Amino acid sequence: MPISTYTQAAGDAWRSMGDFAAGLVTPTVRLGVTGLARSGKTVFITALVHNLIAGARLPFFDAAAQGRLLRAYLEPQPDEIVPRFAYEKHLGDLVADPPRWPESTRRISQLRLTLEYASTKFWKRQLGRQRLHIDIVDYPGEWLLDLPLLRMSYSEWSQTAIDQSRMEGRKKAAKPWLASLGLVDPTDPADEAVAERLSDLFKAYLREARADPHALSTLPPGRFLMPGDLAGSPALTFAPLDPGGRDSFPRGSLWTMMERRYEAYKAHVVRPFFRDHFARLDRQIVLIDVLAALNGGGPAVADLERAMTEIMECFRSGSNSLWSSLFSPRIDRIVLAATKADHLHHQSHDRLEAILAKLAGRAMARAEYAGAEVRVLAMAAIRATREGEAKRGGEILPCIVGYPLEGETIGRRTFDGNEKFAIFPGDLPSDPALALQGWHTEHGEMRFVRFRPPNPVPLPYGGFASFPNIRLDRALETLIGESLA
Ligand code: GDP
Repeated sequence: MPISTYTQAAGDAWRSMGDFAAGLVTPTVRLGVTGLARSGKTVFITALVHNLIAGARLPFFDAAAQGRLLRAYLEPQPDEIVPRFAYEKHLGDLVADPPRWPESTRRISQLRLTLEYASTKFWKRQLGRQRLHIDIVDYPGEWLLDLPLLRMSYSEWSQTAIDQSRMEGRKKAAKPWLASLGLVDPTDPADEAVAERLSDLFKAYLREARADPHALSTLPPGRFLMPGDLAGSPALTFAPLDPGGRDSFPRGSLWTMMERRYEAYKAHVVRPFFRDHFARLDRQIVLIDVLAALNGGGPAVADLERAMTEIMECFRSGSNSLWSSLFSPRIDRIVLAATKADHLHHQSHDRLEAILAKLAGRAMARAEYAGAEVRVLAMAAIRATREGEAKRGGEILPCIVGYPLEGETIGRRTFDGNEKFAIFPGDLPSDPALALQGWHTEHGEMRFVRFRPPNPVPLPYGGFASFPNIRLDRALETLIGESLA
């Protein structure tokens, strides 16, 4: 056998051995995607996966831009007991005629995406194409707010919840629950009907406080607002009680029953979530609807800062963290992303990023944050608008053009969902501090309407073109770029 053939064959054998070895130890990155309700998690994951599978142009995502990303496909996920992220269903909504936004996140779900790529490293390239699993874990940000409960007794939590309900801005929503609480003696014998009534009123208060357009932060327990698979379960039938200065209660009393359920919630719901899911994440993206907060003015921004502080406390590592010695996060990078940037003209995208950076800086200082590296960016996972110009009083204003969703209003105008409309959204101020004091542009308040998703573009050989986006490639590079080097 000529020597060249021999070396060739040996090379092949070596390569396939390499493939085999590489296949056995395919590295996995567990990517957490979170954010409060309607921050854009479902849309982000669907768009991210579709962009990678469809081989979209992603100029700032190095592996794709350099032609090293060879293939992306879905594979069965390794954790059988976690529901699968309904990617196909969500994509089906976005490519329907007319397109519609998919159903939002209500519980934890997971999706395994596998990427095949060529490494930039010489020795790795000799082993053939590399593979990387990305296990995307989608979970409601509300659940993070339960972490402090692990350190609080039922009595401490009750007192905190009662104090918070008396705060300005919450008092009104809490009135029916507080009134009912005032009629209850916690030393009375445990009564299921009383427990249910108090729990229902307490949940109604949390929901109402959350529905306030100026409120973005939420109060624990997180499952009371986002029950996931526990909706209607007795595990969630408890509420705070007023200890009235007592520190012991008779056996069989309403207090001991509520206390037992609170402890069970911590042991069987909160702890497993943090131990089995959160503590296993490698990277995390937190989606934040900064524009909704800016639109709500000063109190909404203050509330968002509070929510971000609570979230950053969950990511804090070290001895002052909320984590027990049993588990602690291993996340090494966190991306904070302001979503829905397509509601702004591109001139304002950097400003949105600067505002988020300022907000994050303040929240991290308040949370005495230390731990994984944090980066911020502004993006739109799916761009529902395009840019244009409109003339007003001789002035040319940069506009965004899109189809406002049915029922959206601007001034006295109500949209039917089929009408294209140009909106001047207002410029964000160049000084982020100014924006955080309550943002009003020189043209008045920001005009913020929800738009229909863009029309899908079918491809001649089947499937649909990837959705237009803003800076999704930068998000990808920051989250997984290094793992594909
Ligand atoms: P989730 O609760 O975090 O899963 O939020 P979703 O992903 O369901 O998003 C909530 C809503 O925000 C959607 O129904 C859309 O109306 C809007 N939205 C989310 N992402 C985008 C985006 O990139 N651009 C625009 N224009 N709207 C978005």
